[in-house]
Amino acid sequence: MGANITFTMIKPTAFKKNCVGKILYKISEAGFRVVAMKVTKLTKAQAMKFYEIHAARPFYGELVEFMSSGPIVAAILEKENAVEAYRTLIGATNPAEAAEGTIRKECGTNIGENAVHGSDSDENAILEANFFFAQTERF
Ligand code: ADP
Ligand code: MG
Repeated sequence: MGANITFTMIKPTAFKKNCVGKILYKISEAGFRVVAMKVTKLTKAQAMKFYEIHAARPFYGELVEFMSSGPIVAAILEKENAVEAYRTLIGATNPAEAAEGTIRKECGTNIGENAVHGSDSDENAILEANFFFAQTERF
């Protein structure tokens, strides 16, 4: 079985807290290969589109405001079983409940500002990677 991809974002609070280096170190230590990476900032419209699946949830407005509030790092990561392996590395959605040593435990602030995004399925990883990266930006 070959390696596959997941998509991640380092969210604005983690970027601002100077956690980018620590997160990238953990990603690299865990054996992920960086296929694509950029620093960017989402417009409100882009954040609304990216999180469309959560439009009916009570925190949608807050999430869109937060995700468009400052710079982020977006990346495509490759590894065997990438989606599940990355969800394990980042930990539970709520940093307070995330396992010791996970990215969300170490770099998260609260359930909304939880340091990183990680895809939840192979299908969504592909859609999310396509949302941010052209083929010519992938290596
Ligand atoms: P995950 O990012 O772990 O896949 P979800 O897909 O359920 O979690 O939620 C997407 C994002 O929405 C979370 O990463 C977090 O930023 C935000 N979020 C989730 N639940 C809440 C909540 N109860 N209150 C505020 N923000 C939330
Ligand atoms: Mg999710």
